[in-house]
Amino acid sequence: MTTYTAPLRDMRFVLHELFDAPTKLTALPGMEDASADVMDAVLDECAKLCEEVLFPLNQTGDQVGCTIKDGAVTTPPGFKEAYAQYAAGGWCGLTASPEFGGQGLPETLDCLVAEMIGSANLSLGLYPGLTQGTILALSALGTPEQKKTYLPKLIGGTWQGTMCLTESHAGSDLGLLRTKAVPNGDGSYSVTGTKIFISAGEHDMVENIVHLVLARLPDAPEGSRGISMFLVPKFFPKADGSPGERNAVAAGSIEHKMGMKASVTCVMNFDGAKGWLVGEAHKGLAGMFVMMNKERLFVGGQGLSQAEVAYQSAAAYAKDRLQGRAATGPARPDKPADPIIVHPDIRNRLMFARSIIEAERALTVWTHMNVDIAHHHADKAARQQADDMVGLMTPIVKAAGTGFGSEITNACLQAFGGHGYIREHGMEQLVRDVRITEIYEGTNTIQALDLVGRKLGIEGGRLFKGWVARVNDDLKRVEGRNDLADFSGPVKDAVKRLADCTEWLNEESKRDPNAKGAAANEYLRLFALTVFAWIWLLTAEKAIANKSGDGFYAAKLDVGRYFMKRVLPQTLSLDAIVRSGSTAMMALAEAAF
Ligand SMILES: Cc1cc2nc3c(=O)[nH]c(=O)nc-3n(C[C@H](O)[C@H](O)[C@H](O)COP(=O)(O)OP(=O)(O)OC[C@H]3O[C@@H](n4cnc5c(N)ncnc54)[C@H](O)[C@@H]3O)c2cc1C
Repeated sequence: MTTYTAPLRDMRFVLHELFDAPTKLTALPGMEDASADVMDAVLDECAKLCEEVLFPLNQTGDQVGCTIKDGAVTTPPGFKEAYAQYAAGGWCGLTASPEFGGQGLPETLDCLVAEMIGSANLSLGLYPGLTQGTILALSALGTPEQKKTYLPKLIGGTWQGTMCLTESHAGSDLGLLRTKAVPNGDGSYSVTGTKIFISAGEHDMVENIVHLVLARLPDAPEGSRGISMFLVPKFFPKADGSPGERNAVAAGSIEHKMGMKASVTCVMNFDGAKGWLVGEAHKGLAGMFVMMNKERLFVGGQGLSQAEVAYQSAAAYAKDRLQGRAATGPARPDKPADPIIVHPDIRNRLMFARSIIEAERALTVWTHMNVDIAHHHADKAARQQADDMVGLMTPIVKAAGTGFGSEITNACLQAFGGHGYIREHGMEQLVRDVRITEIYEGTNTIQALDLVGRKLGIEGGRLFKGWVARVNDDLKRVEGRNDLADFSGPVKDAVKRLADCTEWLNEESKRDPNAKGAAANEYLRLFALTVFAWIWLLTAEKAIANKSGDGFYAAKLDVGRYFMKRVLPQTLSLDAIVRSGSTAMMALAEAAF
């Protein structure tokens, strides 16, 4: 069986010690309530819900899955009740505006809540997870009437939202989508088309489902500039706010998938369904990005959440499973064999997992703190600076969080040997479940292209330069400190390597149009590992300052040193691969494949 205990100690370290989040957040207008006590109480409550209610349903959810009959979807046993408990606890509106019933708490806190929920039950967590994007999009772009009608229900959790983008011929390239919206002459539109792969498109957990649908108006220009966003409810709200008549939208079928079987994925048919424009005509893609930017960070957290459960489960198994003897002589002479944790390979897998997980968690929190600063800071320049960091780190949090999430769940499955491959231990579920996170919300390649193609290019590299300046400030602060030399030296080298490689790539792409596409994935990994190295430097600084405490800080230093010695050197080969250019992969004639 997999095991999961919410990593509250590490979460508190990151929040309070590493980033001093409560002090910084409570200083922001509108965030005054986000005190350390409030944040700790929320984390404690969430941990309880995750460990006691959501986690016990994870394996049966996978085994039973969702079913569809006559267009109605049934979720696995216990899911409806567990979700009701989740909604009643106010979790759907943690960060939403108090004006519509939300709690107005920081995104910084929400990302840790989302991580715990994902670890406990990735499938269940996706239903309300997507609704967060709907809340955000309607809050930013909805009319006062739309906000009044829909936000309290979505925030209260009695209704949920979906994101209807993908069509069979339009996935990464949404400019190809064909769903039509024709004006009815009364301010509403008639939406017709078929969307595929729609998470939570139809199910039995809530009274009503609010679809945000991308479609084309009759006068729409070709491509992504001709897309608009429409709100299409499953049931039209009655005057008293309760669900009324059924709209012409229905699930045609559900997908049979590799993992996340308790999260329903639907083909949705819109047959002249009545909808209303959200935001401006032909600006739907920009509106959708309001939603997608939040969801991309959320999906990065999903990858991290699976890595955490895999690590915890493998660490527990490795201390228990007896096979072979330690190379240094029997560690447990009283037993027929030693626990496999004595073997360097098993330790290597666990240390790799931990060195990435802890850095990723810290990066996720830091990025979300920047989201809060970008939304709430009184000073425009501070908001811009924070927004730059969010823009730069979003593809990294998404793609590295999920890419390493897959790698770590696989590495931890291997620690179980054959038992990892067998269903009852639950490890193979983690490997299957996490895999989609590398694909949806824009594949990881699309994230990498966003980083190299768009984010690096903004205003002559302003975002990249801003982050490098921040790291250099940190390096300056610790200059001359021998106790941090194991960290500061490798960080300095890695940042220089990344900066040189970035410059090379920018130059090469002027010569070779395929250069960025060829380098994107490796470049993103190089960038992510360099960011993690910086995070480990900050972590080590705090750990040394507090080392008189319990073994927690000593462990931080051990894990950080492991990262510097065993993981960061990957950047040397990644740099070489990026610089190899595109010819190696483009030379072979298409017919020869
Ligand atoms: C379980 C599940 C849930 C989902 N939930 C939702 C949802 O709720 N709402 C929704 O709208 N969609 C959803 N999706 C769809 C998902 O977002 C898409 O599958 C994803 O964006 C990729 O699109 P595609 O499958 O058409 O692949 P394609 O776009 O056809 O891509 C195929 C391959 O080509 C690569 N590729 C494509 N374009 C480029 C390029 N320009 N440069 C380099 N490589 C490229 C991709 O990286 C990929 O490897 C879901 C999918 C699944 C499987």
